[in-house]
Order: sequence, then C-alpha cells, then structure tokens
Amino acid sequence: MGKETKRTDVNELGEFGLIDHLTSSHQPMHPSTLKGIGDDAAVLDYGGKPIVVSTDMLLEGIHFDMMYTPLKHLGYKSVVVNLSDICAMNAIPRQITVSIAISNRFSVEALEELYEGIYTACRNYNVDLIGGDTNSSKKGLVISVTALGTADKQKITYRSGARPGDILCVTGDLGASYLGLQILEREKQIWQSNPGVQPDLEKQTYLIGRQLKPEARTDMIVAFENAGFTPTSMIDISDGLASEVKHLCKESKVGALVEEGLVPIKDEAQLMALKFKLDPITCALSGGEDYELLFTAAEKDLPIVRTLPGISIIGEIKPREEGVQLKTVNEKFHPITAQGWQHGKGE
Ligand code: ADP
Ligand code: MG
Repeated sequence: MGKETKRTDVNELGEFGLIDHLTSSHQPMHPSTLKGIGDDAAVLDYGGKPIVVSTDMLLEGIHFDMMYTPLKHLGYKSVVVNLSDICAMNAIPRQITVSIAISNRFSVEALEELYEGIYTACRNYNVDLIGGDTNSSKKGLVISVTALGTADKQKITYRSGARPGDILCVTGDLGASYLGLQILEREKQIWQSNPGVQPDLEKQTYLIGRQLKPEARTDMIVAFENAGFTPTSMIDISDGLASEVKHLCKESKVGALVEEGLVPIKDEAQLMALKFKLDPITCALSGGEDYELLFTAAEKDLPIVRTLPGISIIGEIKPREEGVQLKTVNEKFHPITAQGWQHGKGE
C-alpha cells in the first residue's frame, strides 16, 4: 500500500477559506507589487501612475444560464463585473483581456453576438480590448476577463482603510438583481414543464435588466474625483451587502452598524420580494450581483458625501469589539453573518 493521502473536501473551507488557504503563505517579492491578493484588484507601481488589475471568470451553469441569457448581454456583463472591481479601487478602467473556452455548440454567429456585447461595454466604458485566449471546452462556455485600470497613488482605495466613526455608504440600490434572477428562474421552470407557455416577465424590465445587464459605477468614481472626495475604504457589492460589509470590516479590523431602514431598496424590488415571499432586506444583504459600491467616508467628508448623487448613508463604522451588526426597523440588533441575516432567524 502507498502512503495514505489526506483528502479534504473544498466545501469544508468555503470559497474565501479556500482562497486564504491556498494563498496566505505567498509573499510578493517585488516592490512594484503594492498590493497583491486580498482586495478587489491588485495594485502595481512601475513608477508613474499605479496600475490596478483584476480578473473574474464566468461559467455556464454556474454564473449564467443560456436558457435566458442573451449572448450579447453575457458579453456585456462579463466585462462589467470586472470593471466593477477596478471601480472598487477608486480607479478608472482602461484595458481588458478576454479569454473564452467554447464547445462546438457555439457558431461563429453566436460568438459574434457575444463580442457585440463585449464591444458595446468597451465603447460605453471607454476601455480597449488588448488580448486574450481562445480554447475549446468539452461542455459549456467559459469567459474569463482581466481588467486593468489606473488611479493616482494617493487616491487608490483599499478594503482596509475604514476607521471607527467613518460613515458607511452605498451607491444606487440593492437586491434588484437577485429578484430579476428569481423571475427568470421561475419562468424557466414553468417553460420546462410546459414549453408552449410564453414567459411572463411581468414588465419587470428594471429587475431583469439589473440581472442581465448590470453596470459598473465608473460614473461614481468620476463624481468622487470632481467633488475632491476620496473614500477611506471601498469594495464592490458582487456577493451581497452582508458579505461585503464583513470583508471590509475584516480587512479594516473594525466593526460596523448597518441600519435596515437606510438600506436602499427600490419599490419594484420591495414588491417583487413580497411576491416571492422573500424579505426585501434579505435580498439586499444576501442576493448579490448588484455591482454597486460600498464605501466609507471620514466624518469630515459628510457634507461632500451629501452632495453626491444617488448615495445612501446606511450606517457607521464601529470599533472591532462591537462586531458587525444590523439594527432592524424595530430597533433590534442582530449580528450580520456572511450568509446575510433573515427575519425570524437567530432572534
Ligand atoms: P472579488 O469578489 O472582488 O472578485 P474574490 O473574492 O474573487 O474578489 O477574490 C478575493 C482575492 O483573492 C482577490 O485579491 C483575488 O485576486 C484573490 N484570488 C481569488 N482566487 C484566487 C486564486 N485561485 N489564486 C490567487 N488569488 C486568488
Ligand atoms: Mg470585488
């Protein structure tokens, strides 16, 4: 018998535990690596303006379903989710690379559609497609995008800069993308059991649009710059507010208090959540894929933050000992877990 090999299931560690496990022993060797693993993007300094780099992969069946994802939207979204990570560093995206793995199920025309979406994003966000890689896959479509951007060194914003007393803010509104996905999933189930039925998308163009065609908040980075404002910390909201607040607090070694009543949720999202018998705040905390920005601002910057369009102040950064808490509309306090928080649970 050979020597016994240990086998640990990756689920034991979870996504973030796994990344930590695989990467925590790696120390960057180059002074040009200002920031390596652990933020929304890495920061490289070769003299002049630093470069920020981020990469994300989208997999068929995991991140998107070809049943209800038009290829053009998919191309657009695969670029946007990467640009969002550049924004989270308070940087402006400039270039992307795109790598794809395709099965023989995809025709040239289908891939042209995918690239139409990619080029639309390039035009809308003023970024250049500068390379990539093309491979075949046995099953399913894989799209991997790397985005590069730049910012003045002193304006680059990390997850680690939040301090007790800072105000906690988000751009836009939350939860809509998850509810858009619920509508698409519901219609897919109905269609699968009865292919004759036309999908009923309930004219929910906002919710479905947030899922299929999200936008990166480069406009907010420009607004910050124009207002002379630099957040103390920032992260993009890809996995849901709860997970991102936890990341930000962990990296900044602080706690936070989020007020349920201040979390921005659009009326359409509130109503659709109730239709699905979901709690709207749970959709905002755990839904994900909103691609808004969560950031903190020093108290002295409060007057500037108030002048910025579409910003909600949702709470405050607290000392670490106070933990990461949600204050409900009924004035109750609950710890926020990475899975979010649900009414009726943990009370
Ligand atoms: P985001 O949600 O902003 O895309 P992730 O949670 O995917 O960020 O990643 C967190 C950090 O871990 C990032 O710095 C990312 O580059 C890094 N990372 C993720 N997966 C790996 C990996 N397999 N090897 C090295 N670094 C990784
Ligand atoms: Mg991110």
